[in-house]
Amino acid sequence: MMIVREKSPVSFQSADQRKDSSGGPGDRSDTRDPSWQEVLREAYTSVPRLLKRVGLTTWADGGPPSPALPLLDPPDEFGLLAPEPFVSRIRPGDPEDPLLRQILPTTEELLPCPGFCVDPLREEDHKLAGAILQKYTGRCLVLTTSRCAIHCRFCFRRFRSFCGSLDDPATQMQVLRTIEADRSLREVILSGGDPLVLGDDTLGELVERLGKIGHLRRIRIHSRVPIALPQRIDDQLVKILAASKIPVYMVVHVNHPREIDTNVETAIRRLVQSGIPVLSQSVLLRRVNDRAQVLVELFEKLLDLQVIPYYLHQLDRVQGAAHFEVDESGGLKIIKTLRQLLPGYGVPRYVREVPGERSKLILA
Ligand SMILES: *Cc1c(COP(=O)(O)O)cnc(C)c1O
Ligand code: SF4
Repeated sequence: MMIVREKSPVSFQSADQRKDSSGGPGDRSDTRDPSWQEVLREAYTSVPRLLKRVGLTTWADGGPPSPALPLLDPPDEFGLLAPEPFVSRIRPGDPEDPLLRQILPTTEELLPCPGFCVDPLREEDHKLAGAILQKYTGRCLVLTTSRCAIHCRFCFRRFRSFCGSLDDPATQMQVLRTIEADRSLREVILSGGDPLVLGDDTLGELVERLGKIGHLRRIRIHSRVPIALPQRIDDQLVKILAASKIPVYMVVHVNHPREIDTNVETAIRRLVQSGIPVLSQSVLLRRVNDRAQVLVELFEKLLDLQVIPYYLHQLDRVQGAAHFEVDESGGLKIIKTLRQLLPGYGVPRYVREVPGERSKLILA
């Protein structure tokens, strides 16, 4: 059990956050809204501070955590990271909250889980270059950074070996040269980590340079930032994406309807209104979204925002995530119910990643 007491409400910074090159130091003396960089720097990295915020300490002043929470102590390297905009949507006092379950390190991660490993997708086998993976024809995936705006406990890249970032000009140059040299590529997927934690300068340069590569026809961005840090989707970013010479698609990672609040709605509307097609992907997670009714509510909300549900992923079997797994037969039942309750275009493809296959495996 973690019994560390935190005396001051001042946030701790993780090493990763200190490396954040974008944005100046926070100036707390004025009343303007903090920048997205400031919100990210102030993200929760201390479990006691998070528990206090969500009303899960036994005493009002932040005493020991609620006994219902089997906290992982000490947390592993892939520690807690959750910014206030996400944390503010957690239902106070509920240790079973589906948003909290996605971010809180617990001893469930230590359960023995045969078949779960550190690189379930064997991504190491698919390196085109240091920061580029290619598994599928015509599409390559760029690991733009190892940083994220939130740490999701079920993430299959939690043990990733890639530590670079396209903030580094040499890495960016290598990525661009590799893509330029491969005329079979038509689409570049910016992934990570989360590409939208990169600063505007890096993203702007990247989008511009990719747009100049003659054989490339589309850029796709996979991101959880519109959910975790909606203020990142500001005018400047939207301008950069809208200025791209080739179409930019956005795939937003979202798992539960309560992850979408008015700030997230605003962020998504900004993207949609600037002409960027927005799709969603979700991971099917036990005790988070493994009921048809929860997913119906999620996909209805997304459709209201003109977001097309794209993929519902079967959990990748990464070590430490076994307690999130829903078996495939359970997933198939849920999809069957979704088909009865939603328009056809509102039901995402239920898919599983199979190492070595030429596409994701469509389960339903
Ligand atoms: C999922 C994935 C893609 C994209 O696949 P789509 O079916 O086109 O969405 C591309 N590259 C890698 C390595 C992937 O894991
Ligand atoms: S934001 Fe995406 S890449 Fe980052 S931890 Fe969450 S699921 Fe993994």
